[in-house]
Amino acid sequence: MESAADTLTKPWECAICLRLLYQPATLPCGHSTCRTCLISCLEHARVCPECRAPIPFSLAVPACSTSLQAALLRLFPEETAARAAEEAAAAAAPGASDGGGIAELPLFVLDAMVPGQRLQLHVFEDRYLKLVRRALAQPERHFGMVAARGSGHAGLVVHGRGPLLEQRIAHVGSLVVIENVSDLGGGARLLVEIRATRRFRALRFRQHADGYACAHAEWMLDAPPSSAEDAHAALVLGRELRCAIDAWVEQVRRRGREREPGQLERLLAQLGAVPPPSEPEALGFWAAAVVNPLPPLGLAAEVRPSCLSCDESAQRLRLCLAAVEESMAHVCQKGLLERIVDAAAPAARLLRRMEDALGGAAGIEPPPEEPEPPPPAEPDGRDDVADGGARPPPVPAPQHRRIVSLRSLASVASELLLTYPLWLPIGLYLVVVGLQFCGLGVW
Ligand SMILES: [Zn+2]
Ligand SMILES: [Zn+2]
Repeated sequence: MESAADTLTKPWECAICLRLLYQPATLPCGHSTCRTCLISCLEHARVCPECRAPIPFSLAVPACSTSLQAALLRLFPEETAARAAEEAAAAAAPGASDGGGIAELPLFVLDAMVPGQRLQLHVFEDRYLKLVRRALAQPERHFGMVAARGSGHAGLVVHGRGPLLEQRIAHVGSLVVIENVSDLGGGARLLVEIRATRRFRALRFRQHADGYACAHAEWMLDAPPSSAEDAHAALVLGRELRCAIDAWVEQVRRRGREREPGQLERLLAQLGAVPPPSEPEALGFWAAAVVNPLPPLGLAAEVRPSCLSCDESAQRLRLCLAAVEESMAHVCQKGLLERIVDAAAPAARLLRRMEDALGGAAGIEPPPEEPEPPPPAEPDGRDDVADGGARPPPVPAPQHRRIVSLRSLASVASELLLTYPLWLPIGLYLVVVGLQFCGLGVW
């Protein structure tokens, strides 16, 4: 038989810990549990612990209901105070987050992301599904993103104990926040949209029981400039980088070097306002995200990992500037092709003139006029042998064919050159072979 006290507390009980509610959070179905209990429950299943109503991935952990908490404090002051002391002791225990870093950051080993960068992840590996579910259950909805050590390649399987993990995982990574999640199939495949927010340096690694790596990490910030000259140098570099990026973006767009139309425009919109040169750290990361984006653009060197590890703003700006300049030369290679094609056009005209001159000297008419009947005085054309010197000697058929083939080759090659820059080598080859065939070793 239930006691009077039990009857009183029963409606205020948490369905998870079966104790009096503490800092309750209310789910869309209307049921409330302790917020901390809900967080640990969501790591395993996204359903209400009481009525099993599904909790969508898009729903963040609800905030503590202050009116319910006030009512609990009024109704059960002693029990609530005891629970508060218990939670405070747990938070202060070793292993809990400390202000200067992160005690246990789950790591997704994929690629280096610089702060501000966004990425869509297709998560299907069991250990990473668990990692993402656990992150979603936390109010902050974050985890760490790191590259596999010595490579920026995706999808590396990283297993091992602490020391082994240290060799295989990059020590500097980014804290990423989950911005959106879509379930692509019964929770076994998730599309997770993440945004990198700040950098950390991993101090120790640990393998989580669920198969992913965790790190004890500290936050990373650039060292402040050591002198006024250094600060000024960073400012000048920042301005230079801004101009270089503007020019680069224009060239990439104009020359159609994006992977898909509008890629850079979307990227710039995603990254938001450009940090001013007075914020060199943010400007450096912005530049790295533009020049070396995710998904890749394939036009610049991989600067993300070095930009992440670098702890001096001016050095990062220099890295990005070098990458932009190098990429600019690469992007403008097409300009070189265009110049060759332009240079080929007069050559084609020259060939045509040469051909006309040769045709004129040989008394050969252009092809459409070629079947013109002979003059009426020589009806059957048999007398070209008898006339002897009155007319220029007839051109032998092979030379005629040569000129015709030269003409067609030149026009086809020049057309190819002007229309399809990719055909340039083939076109040039055809012209050279054609000239050799005609016995005109001009080139
Ligand atoms: Zn509870
Ligand atoms: Zn419920």
